[in-house]
Amino acid sequence: REDDVFASLPDRLDVTFGDLFAGAEKIAAALVALGVTPGDRVAVQVEKTIEAIQLYLGTVMAGGVFLPLNTAYTTPEIAFFLGDAEPRVVICDPTRENETRSIAGNASVLTLDAAGVGSLTEAAKVHASFTPVARNADDLAAILYTSGTTGRSKGAMLSHGNLASNSMVLRDCWRFSPDDVLIHALPIFHTHGLFVATNVALLAGAAVVFLPKFDTDAIIEAMPNATSLMGVPTFYTRLLDDPRLSRELASNMRLFVSGSAPLLVDTHEAWEERTGHRILERYGMSETNMNTSNPYEGERRAGTVGFPLPGVETRIRQDGVEVEQGDIGVLEVRGPNVFKGYWQMPEKTAEELLPDGWFITGDMAREDADGYITIVGRSKDLVISGGFNVYPKEVEGLIDDLAGVKESAVIGVPHHDFGEAVVAVVVRADPSLTKADVTDPLADRLAKFKQPKEVIFLPELPRNTMGKVQKKALREDYAKLFA
Ligand code: ATP
Ligand code: MG
Repeated sequence: REDDVFASLPDRLDVTFGDLFAGAEKIAAALVALGVTPGDRVAVQVEKTIEAIQLYLGTVMAGGVFLPLNTAYTTPEIAFFLGDAEPRVVICDPTRENETRSIAGNASVLTLDAAGVGSLTEAAKVHASFTPVARNADDLAAILYTSGTTGRSKGAMLSHGNLASNSMVLRDCWRFSPDDVLIHALPIFHTHGLFVATNVALLAGAAVVFLPKFDTDAIIEAMPNATSLMGVPTFYTRLLDDPRLSRELASNMRLFVSGSAPLLVDTHEAWEERTGHRILERYGMSETNMNTSNPYEGERRAGTVGFPLPGVETRIRQDGVEVEQGDIGVLEVRGPNVFKGYWQMPEKTAEELLPDGWFITGDMAREDADGYITIVGRSKDLVISGGFNVYPKEVEGLIDDLAGVKESAVIGVPHHDFGEAVVAVVVRADPSLTKADVTDPLADRLAKFKQPKEVIFLPELPRNTMGKVQKKALREDYAKLFA
């Protein structure tokens, strides 16, 4: 199996499983030589390369805790994470070495560039093989900072047991095997690309087409020889914009997975029409890896995130009581996938991770009569207008269905009378669309308190790299709308 190909890359020779682990062992040895002992954090802000994957594997082999950071973060942002996590070693891009040194405290700083070369690989060269440091299921393998969609990022402490259990479940549920070729175009600083895509491929012995980032041309080129793709919803909408996407192009593919942000029903349907494949939507978060998934066999229901994965329990509660089936409440999950708590935030951990193991996700959800779960939004995005709850997704769904609308985001902004007022931020497909074109059709379909008091047209919604709409930014931008 050593000679089997793990990764094919655009401008490089294929990387075998043997190459991958040999490199990872050298890096593990280099980290130990730098003083990494079990439990030490290795913070990493680098471009997506095979060496970065080896750094992840090498860190856990050395008994360390892998701490990946979004490449978009600026130095002041990184300063917060380094101050919070107190890593032993920091690996950064050579272009940011000086800045990083200035904020790294006592940590050793090494570099790794977009070609997979730097002082890290230099330091690794002198080492030979390495025997992984023994770790228990409860020992930490990674700290993953959440995306910061609802507030300041929190460091989710993930154990070896968390990662291993979820990877095995996903491999089996999604039928990954050594015959698979997965198109890997997600960033590797986030749970989706790092744990879901990479761990599942590794555990299954599958190969990956390793792309440094999302690129329509590269994905279209890879598809005829690949079997699967994991993406965020924007991958699918961008691919749909390309006329080359067809049934024939996707004829070798067996699985398209979507997650990290809600997939619109429209996208699901358009994808099926164009390719003949129904996208499999799943739901997870940094704190838990994956919680629910639509079935591999059986109906993949658009607009839902499917059923709890094997071993994962879910419940939906409001004010501490389980809601009636079909009603909306906050989704809670329990299982071997659930994290050990937030790094250095005992109060926050105590609020959200209950003593009996249930984790309060902060996502609002509903379960239908067949057990499919739908995420209807985040509890922090809930709008309370005149004392009544407005679930943004309900309003967004109706607006998105209007002719001339591409997509929308509904937010609550402070209002002297109502406490909060509903505001619709709309991206037009038809440039002549007016405010009345949006509000009139809603008048007899929504209770007055749910109707947008204002409509704002934007050329696009603010999104982060994971395709998540940044409602926090929208709320800040329009905070004074009714002031
Ligand atoms: P923060 O916790 O810092 O505010 P975040 O929650 O966006 O940021 P992540 O852990 O990266 O950080 O994302 C997890 C969240 O992504 C989930 O709680 C959920 O809101 C959303 N999500 C993931 N998959 C789906 C999906 N299929 N449909 C809808 N939402 C999803
Ligand atoms: Mg979150």
